[in-house]
Amino acid sequence: MLTALTEEGKMVHLIYSKNIKYLSILRKNHSFYCPQCQEEVILKIGKIKIPHFSHKSNSTCTNSEPESEVHLQGKVDLYKWLKHIGFSVEIEKYLMEIRQRPDLFVRKNGKEYAIEFQCSPIQYKDIKRRSLGYFSLNIIPIWILGGEPYQKKFQLINNLFQLSDFQWAFTQYNRQNGMHIYSYSPKTKRVILLSQLTPITTRKIFAYQSDYPLSSLDFPFDFANDQLSIIDYDFWFYEKKNWIQNKMLFAKNLNDPFLSEVYHNKHSPLLLPPFIGIPVPFMTICKTNSVIWQYYLWLDGIESLSAGDKINLMNLRRNFEKRVKNGCIKLRDMPLIQIDFKNHMIYHYLKHLSFLGIIKELEKGSFIMNKSNSFPNNIEEVQRMEVELSKKLDIKS
Ligand SMILES: [Zn+2]
Repeated sequence: MLTALTEEGKMVHLIYSKNIKYLSILRKNHSFYCPQCQEEVILKIGKIKIPHFSHKSNSTCTNSEPESEVHLQGKVDLYKWLKHIGFSVEIEKYLMEIRQRPDLFVRKNGKEYAIEFQCSPIQYKDIKRRSLGYFSLNIIPIWILGGEPYQKKFQLINNLFQLSDFQWAFTQYNRQNGMHIYSYSPKTKRVILLSQLTPITTRKIFAYQSDYPLSSLDFPFDFANDQLSIIDYDFWFYEKKNWIQNKMLFAKNLNDPFLSEVYHNKHSPLLLPPFIGIPVPFMTICKTNSVIWQYYLWLDGIESLSAGDKINLMNLRRNFEKRVKNGCIKLRDMPLIQIDFKNHMIYHYLKHLSFLGIIKELEKGSFIMNKSNSFPNNIEEVQRMEVELSKKLDIKS
């Protein structure tokens, strides 16, 4: 912590105190207490970390996890930056009603923001609990990950990253950047934006990474990103095939609910048409692979239709909900996203199908079958369709 109370109840901030001699005298003459739990805390003046307060090792305070140098430095940097650009900002403000202490508390134009600079992995349920706490007071939580946390998967494929469940939980949404995650590196003093998160598998994603010097930014962050084309379709279809083959290999066929449904409907998992399992906006909400949820959408509401039949969006949505309810489709836990994007995702999938000529959009939101579709008969046909589809989607994006 960078703040504590003295025995007289005076708040001590360590943000600007660099003078070790002064801090040593302060430490000699005062005791310090945690503003949250009132336990006595220790003023630590070391050579490695910046000066900070720390709970004793037997503390039960929820705020007593040891803080890393990155965390302390990040808090100081963000605080100074917000002050510098003219904001009212408080560090480690204790919000009594919800018993939480955001790293930074910011007011702007009548809105309140809680900034959490998170460097160590924490449980999903804690991210959720703390975010809901802020939402309950009409405070907008902004979570920033510490360091440069995203693992680049392969050097040869652009825009490919790997995210852990912990990192996924920090997904936020806005119009410019789609689903995105912020991080900040105190070492480089740069804010990193990972935008347009597009899951290939549970962990592997296509995304666009950009970074900006903290000093050049305004708050709240507003990155005007062009919607660039980030998807390598050759790689997409390669991964999709791998995923299906692995599933067939390891899922003990009929015990796997998805595969058994595919076989039951006289389809072959390797001969699904390429438009089942394509990247579409908002699909981040699904933890389940796009092959599965798009297959179910198709099977439950589209396959039986003939050319000219109307596709009922409400019906698709209902079927989708049913599949979620019985566990066939799993949604991703993203506590910072308060909007239900299921309709958006389904609509965008239909838009893609209509772009590919499989269905037709008569007016916004109203689709009909363009032609009866037959599934490919062999691998060569699948590959031919994939090449065609990649070309079309490449032009689209
Ligand atoms: Zn405490």
